[in-house]
Amino acid sequence: MTVALYPGSFDPATNGHLDTAVRAARLFDEVVIAVFDRPMKNLLFSTAERVAFLQQAIQGLPRIRVETYATLTVHYAQEIGASVIVRGLRDVSDFQHEFQMAQINQTIDPDIDVVVFMANRKFTFLSSSAVREIAALGGDVSGFVPHHVAQALYRKFQTRL
Ligand code: ADP
Repeated sequence: MTVALYPGSFDPATNGHLDTAVRAARLFDEVVIAVFDRPMKNLLFSTAERVAFLQQAIQGLPRIRVETYATLTVHYAQEIGASVIVRGLRDVSDFQHEFQMAQINQTIDPDIDVVVFMANRKFTFLSSSAVREIAALGGDVSGFVPHHVAQALYRKFQTRL
């Protein structure tokens, strides 16, 4: 049985993230979407909120679950018995970052492979930061994130469309 860990900040989860998780679940027996509890980033949503958004989004999807973690990603993968780390790739700047991270992870534990999914062409332009910015400026994010995430963003920024 192959468990795949899909780690990230997911601040908030977008349709691009979910597309990757669903595609990973077609390849692996179990996909654990893991919300990193303390990224060195300014977060808009709390860990509990980011987890809840994902949990609602994956309801009814088989073989995908959501967890949270606060350690090195490779250590968390070891802890849950994951032999694969899933990441998404949108462009060359993602590649540079992911390539470096993968080399570091490989150095820490050569038995864990990083598997990168090319972003769905419909979501290549999509990032959590763009979604946050659009919502903050009163724009419509309904095509980019699940409905409940869009509602939470509108509540956060007190916009009404
Ligand atoms: P991190 O802070 O770890 O980069 P993110 O939540 O921003 O966390 O992203 C998690 C993973 O999902 C990363 O591998 C990122 O490249 C990927 N990703 C982000 N947006 C998309 C998208 N629109 N399509 C496919 N993959 C994506």
